[in-house]
Amino acid sequence: MDWLRLRRRPRDASEPMDLARVRMVREQIASRGLTDPELVRAFGAVPRHVFVESEYAYADEALPLPAGQTISQPYIVALMTDVARPATGWREARVLEIGTGSGYQAAILAELGAQVTSVERHAELSERAGRRLADAGYEGVRLVVGDGTRGWLAGAPYDAVIVTAAGPSVPQPLLDQLSPDGGRLVMPVGGRVHQELTVVERRGSELVSSRRDPVVFVPLIGEYGFGE
Ligand code: SAH
Repeated sequence: MDWLRLRRRPRDASEPMDLARVRMVREQIASRGLTDPELVRAFGAVPRHVFVESEYAYADEALPLPAGQTISQPYIVALMTDVARPATGWREARVLEIGTGSGYQAAILAELGAQVTSVERHAELSERAGRRLADAGYEGVRLVVGDGTRGWLAGAPYDAVIVTAAGPSVPQPLLDQLSPDGGRLVMPVGGRVHQELTVVERRGSELVSSRRDPVVFVPLIGEYGFGE
Protein backbone atom coordinates (compact mmCIF):
# COMPACT_ATOMS: atom_id res chain seq x y z
CA MET A 1 0.00 0.00 0.00
CA ASP A 2 1.29 3.43 -0.90
CA TRP A 3 1.40 5.50 2.30
CA LEU A 4 1.76 8.69 0.32
CA ARG A 5 -1.57 8.10 -1.31
CA LEU A 6 -3.14 7.42 2.07
CA ARG A 7 -1.78 10.63 3.54
CA ARG A 8 -2.65 12.83 0.63
CA ARG A 9 -5.68 15.03 1.22
CA PRO A 10 -8.57 13.69 -0.87
CA ARG A 11 -9.09 15.98 -3.83
CA ASP A 12 -12.29 17.98 -3.43
CA ALA A 13 -13.88 17.73 -6.85
CA SER A 14 -16.19 20.65 -6.14
CA GLU A 15 -13.37 23.03 -5.30
CA PRO A 16 -12.79 24.49 -8.76
CA MET A 17 -16.54 25.12 -9.09
CA ASP A 18 -16.55 26.89 -5.72
CA LEU A 19 -13.70 29.10 -6.84
CA ALA A 20 -15.44 29.82 -10.13
CA ARG A 21 -18.55 30.80 -8.22
CA VAL A 22 -16.67 33.17 -5.91
CA ARG A 23 -15.19 34.80 -8.99
CA MET A 24 -18.61 35.01 -10.69
CA VAL A 25 -20.06 36.84 -7.69
CA ARG A 26 -17.15 39.26 -7.49
CA GLU A 27 -16.60 39.99 -11.17
CA GLN A 28 -20.11 39.75 -12.63
CA ILE A 29 -22.45 40.73 -9.81
CA ALA A 30 -20.85 42.83 -7.05
CA SER A 31 -18.54 44.76 -9.39
CA ARG A 32 -21.56 45.77 -11.50
CA GLY A 33 -23.28 47.36 -8.55
CA LEU A 34 -25.39 44.53 -7.12
CA THR A 35 -23.98 44.53 -3.61
CA ASP A 36 -26.95 43.65 -1.39
CA PRO A 37 -25.27 41.30 1.12
CA GLU A 38 -28.17 38.81 1.08
CA LEU A 39 -28.10 38.68 -2.71
CA VAL A 40 -24.33 38.26 -2.81
CA ARG A 41 -24.52 35.49 -0.22
CA ALA A 42 -27.24 33.61 -2.13
CA PHE A 43 -25.37 33.73 -5.45
CA GLY A 44 -22.27 32.55 -3.63
CA ALA A 45 -24.17 29.64 -2.10
CA VAL A 46 -26.29 28.15 -4.93
CA PRO A 47 -24.32 25.64 -7.05
CA ARG A 48 -25.19 26.93 -10.54
CA HIS A 49 -23.31 24.00 -12.14
CA VAL A 50 -25.88 21.58 -10.67
CA PHE A 51 -28.64 23.35 -12.62
CA VAL A 52 -26.71 24.26 -15.75
CA GLU A 53 -24.67 21.30 -16.92
CA SER A 54 -21.89 23.06 -18.73
CA GLU A 55 -18.25 23.73 -18.15
CA TYR A 56 -19.29 27.35 -18.66
CA ALA A 57 -21.82 27.29 -15.80
CA TYR A 58 -20.10 30.28 -14.15
CA ALA A 59 -19.28 32.18 -17.31
CA ASP A 60 -20.66 35.64 -18.04
CA GLU A 61 -23.10 34.39 -20.64
CA ALA A 62 -26.53 32.89 -21.27
CA LEU A 63 -26.51 29.10 -21.75
CA PRO A 64 -28.76 26.61 -23.53
CA LEU A 65 -31.24 24.45 -21.62
CA PRO A 66 -33.15 21.43 -22.96
CA ALA A 67 -36.30 22.01 -25.07
CA GLY A 68 -34.66 24.91 -26.93
CA GLN A 69 -34.73 27.17 -23.85
CA THR A 70 -32.05 29.46 -22.44
CA ILE A 71 -30.93 30.50 -18.97
CA SER A 72 -29.81 34.11 -18.61
CA GLN A 73 -26.30 35.11 -17.68
CA PRO A 74 -25.78 35.27 -13.88
CA TYR A 75 -25.87 39.09 -13.82
CA ILE A 76 -29.36 39.23 -15.35
CA VAL A 77 -30.67 36.63 -12.86
CA ALA A 78 -29.16 38.74 -10.08
CA LEU A 79 -30.56 41.99 -11.47
CA MET A 80 -34.09 40.58 -11.73
CA THR A 81 -33.84 39.19 -8.21
CA ASP A 82 -32.57 42.52 -6.90
CA VAL A 83 -35.36 44.61 -8.43
CA ALA A 84 -38.05 42.14 -7.29
CA ARG A 85 -36.98 42.28 -3.64
CA PRO A 86 -40.09 42.88 -1.48
CA ALA A 87 -39.98 45.92 0.80
CA THR A 88 -40.24 43.58 3.79
CA GLY A 89 -37.36 41.40 2.58
CA TRP A 90 -37.12 37.87 1.23
CA ARG A 91 -37.57 35.82 4.37
CA GLU A 92 -40.96 34.06 4.22
CA ALA A 93 -41.93 36.21 1.23
CA ARG A 94 -44.39 34.53 -1.15
CA VAL A 95 -42.77 34.47 -4.54
CA LEU A 96 -44.05 33.26 -7.90
CA GLU A 97 -41.65 32.50 -10.72
CA ILE A 98 -42.90 31.92 -14.27
CA GLY A 99 -40.53 29.78 -16.34
CA THR A 100 -38.81 27.24 -14.05
CA GLY A 101 -36.32 26.24 -16.76
CA SER A 102 -33.31 24.74 -14.97
CA GLY A 103 -34.56 25.64 -11.48
CA TYR A 104 -31.60 27.98 -10.82
CA GLN A 105 -33.60 31.16 -10.26
CA ALA A 106 -35.99 29.21 -8.00
CA ALA A 107 -33.00 27.95 -5.99
CA ILE A 108 -31.70 31.50 -5.56
CA LEU A 109 -35.10 32.61 -4.25
CA ALA A 110 -35.27 29.62 -1.90
CA GLU A 111 -31.74 30.36 -0.68
CA LEU A 112 -32.93 33.89 0.12
CA GLY A 113 -35.57 32.36 2.39
CA ALA A 114 -38.64 32.90 0.18
CA GLN A 115 -41.59 30.51 -0.20
CA VAL A 116 -41.27 29.78 -3.88
CA THR A 117 -43.80 28.55 -6.42
CA SER A 118 -42.47 28.14 -9.95
CA VAL A 119 -44.55 27.39 -13.05
CA GLU A 120 -43.15 25.77 -16.21
CA ARG A 121 -45.02 24.79 -19.37
CA HIS A 122 -42.63 21.98 -20.36
CA ALA A 123 -43.23 19.01 -18.04
CA GLU A 124 -39.81 17.49 -18.75
CA LEU A 125 -38.03 20.70 -17.77
CA SER A 126 -40.05 20.92 -14.57
CA GLU A 127 -39.21 17.31 -13.66
CA ARG A 128 -35.54 17.85 -14.35
CA ALA A 129 -35.55 21.05 -12.29
CA GLY A 130 -37.26 19.19 -9.45
CA ARG A 131 -34.47 16.63 -9.36
CA ARG A 132 -31.79 19.32 -9.40
CA LEU A 133 -33.51 21.33 -6.67
CA ALA A 134 -33.67 18.20 -4.50
CA ASP A 135 -30.00 17.38 -5.21
CA ALA A 136 -29.04 20.89 -4.11
CA GLY A 137 -31.20 20.74 -0.98
CA TYR A 138 -34.11 22.98 -2.00
CA GLU A 139 -36.98 20.53 -1.51
CA GLY A 140 -39.33 23.29 -0.37
CA VAL A 141 -39.85 24.80 -3.83
CA ARG A 142 -43.33 24.10 -5.22
CA LEU A 143 -43.19 23.25 -8.93
CA VAL A 144 -46.28 23.54 -11.11
CA VAL A 145 -46.62 22.43 -14.74
CA GLY A 146 -48.91 24.66 -16.75
CA ASP A 147 -49.42 28.00 -18.46
CA GLY A 148 -47.76 30.54 -16.16
CA THR A 149 -49.37 33.48 -17.95
CA ARG A 150 -52.42 32.61 -15.83
CA GLY A 151 -50.32 32.76 -12.68
CA TRP A 152 -51.11 30.30 -9.92
CA LEU A 153 -54.12 31.47 -8.00
CA ALA A 154 -53.84 28.96 -5.14
CA GLY A 155 -50.68 30.67 -3.83
CA ALA A 156 -51.77 34.30 -4.29
CA PRO A 157 -51.24 37.04 -3.28
CA TYR A 158 -47.50 37.18 -4.05
CA ASP A 159 -44.99 39.62 -2.59
CA ALA A 160 -42.89 39.18 -5.73
CA VAL A 161 -43.47 37.76 -9.21
CA ILE A 162 -40.49 37.06 -11.48
CA VAL A 163 -41.26 36.20 -15.09
CA THR A 164 -38.21 34.69 -16.79
CA ALA A 165 -39.59 34.62 -20.34
CA ALA A 166 -40.55 37.58 -22.54
CA GLY A 167 -44.09 38.62 -23.36
CA PRO A 168 -45.78 41.40 -25.35
CA SER A 169 -47.29 42.81 -22.12
CA VAL A 170 -47.60 41.88 -18.45
CA PRO A 171 -50.34 39.21 -18.16
CA GLN A 172 -53.35 40.57 -16.29
CA PRO A 173 -53.66 37.50 -13.99
CA LEU A 174 -50.13 38.15 -12.70
CA LEU A 175 -51.04 41.75 -11.80
CA ASP A 176 -54.23 40.51 -10.11
CA GLN A 177 -52.25 37.97 -8.07
CA LEU A 178 -49.67 40.54 -6.94
CA SER A 179 -50.00 41.63 -3.30
CA PRO A 180 -51.77 45.03 -3.10
CA ASP A 181 -49.37 45.71 -0.24
CA GLY A 182 -46.29 46.69 -2.25
CA GLY A 183 -46.05 43.53 -4.38
CA ARG A 184 -43.33 43.77 -7.06
CA LEU A 185 -43.25 42.12 -10.47
CA VAL A 186 -40.35 42.00 -12.91
CA MET A 187 -40.63 40.76 -16.48
CA PRO A 188 -39.02 41.28 -19.89
CA VAL A 189 -41.65 43.03 -22.03
CA GLY A 190 -41.38 43.71 -25.75
CA GLY A 191 -41.13 41.77 -29.00
CA ARG A 192 -40.06 38.19 -29.57
CA VAL A 193 -36.42 39.17 -30.08
CA HIS A 194 -35.68 42.25 -27.94
CA GLN A 195 -37.29 43.40 -24.74
CA GLU A 196 -36.88 45.73 -21.77
CA LEU A 197 -37.00 44.63 -18.16
CA THR A 198 -40.21 46.03 -16.80
CA VAL A 199 -40.90 46.48 -13.10
CA VAL A 200 -44.39 46.93 -11.67
CA GLU A 201 -45.18 47.78 -8.07
CA ARG A 202 -48.71 47.44 -6.78
CA ARG A 203 -50.11 49.64 -4.00
CA GLY A 204 -53.77 48.88 -3.48
CA SER A 205 -55.35 49.18 -6.91
CA GLU A 206 -52.55 51.47 -8.13
CA LEU A 207 -49.85 50.02 -10.39
CA VAL A 208 -46.60 51.92 -10.85
CA SER A 209 -44.51 50.59 -13.69
CA SER A 210 -41.08 51.47 -15.00
CA ARG A 211 -38.90 50.25 -17.84
CA ARG A 212 -35.24 49.46 -17.37
CA ASP A 213 -32.47 47.52 -19.06
CA PRO A 214 -32.68 46.11 -22.61
CA VAL A 215 -32.65 42.29 -22.51
CA VAL A 216 -33.10 39.22 -24.71
CA PHE A 217 -35.28 36.37 -23.39
CA VAL A 218 -37.02 33.34 -24.88
CA PRO A 219 -40.74 33.92 -25.49
CA LEU A 220 -43.46 33.48 -22.90
CA ILE A 221 -45.96 31.28 -24.70
CA GLY A 222 -49.49 31.05 -23.43
CA GLU A 223 -52.95 32.55 -23.17
CA TYR A 224 -51.67 36.00 -22.07
CA GLY A 225 -48.29 35.73 -23.82
CA PHE A 226 -47.19 35.01 -27.38
CA GLY A 227 -48.84 32.36 -29.54
CA GLU A 228 -47.08 29.04 -30.19
N1 SAH B 1 -35.72 30.81 -14.81
C1 SAH B 1 -35.09 29.75 -15.56
C2 SAH B 1 -34.84 30.11 -17.01
C3 SAH B 1 -36.11 30.20 -17.74
S1 SAH B 1 -36.03 30.14 -19.48
C4 SAH B 1 -33.83 29.28 -14.89
O1 SAH B 1 -33.46 29.79 -13.84
O2 SAH B 1 -33.20 28.37 -15.43
C5 SAH B 1 -37.73 30.47 -19.77
C6 SAH B 1 -38.66 29.33 -19.42
O3 SAH B 1 -39.98 29.79 -19.55
C7 SAH B 1 -38.54 28.15 -20.38
O4 SAH B 1 -38.24 26.98 -19.64
C8 SAH B 1 -39.92 28.06 -21.01
O5 SAH B 1 -40.33 26.74 -21.28
C9 SAH B 1 -40.78 28.72 -19.95
N2 SAH B 1 -42.07 29.23 -20.41
C10 SAH B 1 -42.39 29.89 -21.55
N3 SAH B 1 -43.68 30.22 -21.56
C11 SAH B 1 -44.22 29.77 -20.38
C12 SAH B 1 -45.52 29.80 -19.79
N4 SAH B 1 -46.57 30.37 -20.39
N5 SAH B 1 -45.67 29.25 -18.58
C13 SAH B 1 -44.64 28.66 -17.93
N6 SAH B 1 -43.39 28.59 -18.44
C14 SAH B 1 -43.19 29.14 -19.64
